[in-house]
Amino acid sequence: MQFRNFKMVSYVVYGRGSFNQLDEILAPQRKTDAPMIFFVDHFFEGKPLTNRIPLRGKDKIILVDVTYEPKTTQVDALAQQLKAEFGTVSGIIGIGGGSTMDLAKAVSLMMTNPGSSADYQGWDLVKFPGVYKAGIPTLSGTGAEVSRTTVLTGPTRKLGMNSDFTPFDQIVLDPELTKHAPTNQRFYTGMDCYIHCIESLEGNFINEFSKSYGEKALQICQDIFLGKKTWTDESDDKLMMASYAGGMSIAYSQVGVAHAVSYGLSYLLGTKHGIGNCIVMNHIEEFYPKGVAEFKQMVADNDIFIPEGICKGLSNQQFDAMINVSLGMKPLWENALGKNWEQIMTREKLRALYEKL
Ligand code: NAD
Ligand code: ZN
Repeated sequence: MQFRNFKMVSYVVYGRGSFNQLDEILAPQRKTDAPMIFFVDHFFEGKPLTNRIPLRGKDKIILVDVTYEPKTTQVDALAQQLKAEFGTVSGIIGIGGGSTMDLAKAVSLMMTNPGSSADYQGWDLVKFPGVYKAGIPTLSGTGAEVSRTTVLTGPTRKLGMNSDFTPFDQIVLDPELTKHAPTNQRFYTGMDCYIHCIESLEGNFINEFSKSYGEKALQICQDIFLGKKTWTDESDDKLMMASYAGGMSIAYSQVGVAHAVSYGLSYLLGTKHGIGNCIVMNHIEEFYPKGVAEFKQMVADNDIFIPEGICKGLSNQQFDAMINVSLGMKPLWENALGKNWEQIMTREKLRALYEKL
């Protein structure tokens, strides 16, 4: 038995207003003539948060368009642009949801690794540590702040750059930054965390390490999403920690059916991670009966819209493309269904599931 020895985020600061410490946190990381680059989710263009970023010298804010999930081409272009403009940089700071944080991680790695980010989609392919990187979530749920991956859509697949060089050097968890997230978006991203917990806790790879984080994150999600409740600052505080704990849970286990199926949707149709997981979760009671029933209750309690019929009218070729991407996620299926998963989740069965979505 080989136990995974995994790299974690090096520094964590948590608390309302902790964003104000950013200048102080970054000071020791600054190198002469190498600016800090702030990737900021385009939602914050012209918003007060942008004025609170501690710019010094040649530091630069780059507003990143996250209408679509990060692509390897986008990562390569950003790294090229920074190398051309500055040679090197002191660090990359990602301020936004999972998409912006993933972009920051990936561009940090591509500042020092040759070739294209597409070359590193997979497990432990990254050769050199990237430049200093920090993540500052403005949405809670993905766990991207703690994970050892950055999920990218490349020319042939949607797959992360999973490596020991991928986790952030620093994260700043300031729940105040999530305050203005729209109800639906907050729910979709929050459910990413809920689904991480269900898939981790119900999976075959579960162990006490993952359980201890997963159970806590699950309990927080139930606390804040079950029942018709008013959203408060305390809910934001809690959800940020649920995201962290949910991420820690899957770090030592694995996700499952909802993620494996939703990867196919996102590869072919560009469906975003959070909402894609919700679309799938709505139809997989066969695998997670309790979790799906509770999920549906949360959808109803929070009056959330979950799209239906998104695979209507797709061609055989398109279904095949989704099925290929999904069945390629072997560890996820093995976690969910066991070693003989290929006998359970046949192409025909998966096709029937996609047709229901
Ligand atoms: P997101 O980053 O894609 O953002 C969703 C939308 O919310 C965007 O329109 C964005 O502009 C907006 N937004 C962000 N913060 C806001 C705020 N405070 N107020 C209002 N709007 C705000 O959403 P997400 O769900 O956080 O992240 C999904 C991405 O994370 C996907 O690309 C997925 O692949 C990735 N992901 C990565 C990991 C990982 O471990 N690296 C894990 C799960 C998901
Ligand atoms: Zn997820």
